[in-house]
Amino acid sequence: MLRFLRVLTYASSLIAALGLISCTTNTEKANPTKAPVVSEPQPELITQAKTKPQPAVEPQEPLPEKPPAPVEQPKPDTPARLERPSAKADNPSKTPTSSTVNTSNDAIAGLCKEIGDKLGSVTVDNCLQASLRDSGGRSILDRAIAIKKFDPQDDKQPLGRVLLMGGIHGDEYSSVSIVFRWLETLNEHHSGLFEWMVVPLLNPDGLLRKKSQRQNDAGVDLNRNFPTPDWRADALNYWRNRTYSNPRRYPGPNASSEPETRWFIEQIESFKPDAIVAVHAPHSLVDYDGPQRPPHKLGRLYLQELGIYPGSLGNYAGVAKDIPVVTIELSSAGIMPPSSEISSMWSDLIAWLQREVPKQRLARSQENEPED
Ligand SMILES: [Zn+2]
Repeated sequence: MLRFLRVLTYASSLIAALGLISCTTNTEKANPTKAPVVSEPQPELITQAKTKPQPAVEPQEPLPEKPPAPVEQPKPDTPARLERPSAKADNPSKTPTSSTVNTSNDAIAGLCKEIGDKLGSVTVDNCLQASLRDSGGRSILDRAIAIKKFDPQDDKQPLGRVLLMGGIHGDEYSSVSIVFRWLETLNEHHSGLFEWMVVPLLNPDGLLRKKSQRQNDAGVDLNRNFPTPDWRADALNYWRNRTYSNPRRYPGPNASSEPETRWFIEQIESFKPDAIVAVHAPHSLVDYDGPQRPPHKLGRLYLQELGIYPGSLGNYAGVAKDIPVVTIELSSAGIMPPSSEISSMWSDLIAWLQREVPKQRLARSQENEPED
């Protein structure tokens, strides 16, 4: 009964959030497609203090898709295209059609071929032109986990380090495509304001199989596999009793059992981000875990804190390690937001980072943690 009430509460708040979003549709401004990285600081937005999250009811399966207002004609990741057979990772097409592309890395070339064949909004050339680098990390099926770093500029001390990640859930196509769009923005406009590490696709095996799936190739929900303090006691019980053993939420046999999870933890340890931004879909909201003040909104997505789960990244990095984690839940897994909304989210995100990352740095330095 309690669970039923919680589901009801969750559903009504989701409906409220959707109502909010649709109300803001006609106030959208026509922003330029490519927002400069350095945006003017936004006026201080209303934020609310975070009460410590309770274990939350899992969001249920994706809501019916709600296409964005047709401000533009985003190229949808149509099912037909998504089902197109893709090239094998070990047999990449090594010669990109564009002469501007110079990728010497076979693993990245193979990955880009597969991504371009799978996603409607990212072509093979888009992917190659992002100049991704092979991190050395590998998925279960030996696909590369690609990254792009944007280093500090010579004459400028960055405000801090930001780790941006998409595609931890392999069937949330738009979460990968939008990170490629933001990579384009950074490739053009990186000014040294922040030091960035961008991971467009943390779960390549989930996305790039014939029928994409949320979990990795071992059937593990990577966003329940992080070694949170409550993992051993709670993760499997939670999965059995609260999700009724939903295979889409399987946290794995042990914390950090999966190579993709371990790789991401290593990046947190070595890159030492001052903020982590993780992109998901399709719940149409912004979630937040960690110290500092959450963003009130990003574009048309509004803050709605869902609570934490055993093994989730927000729980691991945000709560246990005190690193701010912004979770962006796009409104649709299969349809990209209009370009203006992609820019608007980015501008809001940069403004939030400009406000909160320096506070995070200060708090960290007061803990006497060594910097770098
Ligand atoms: Zn997700």
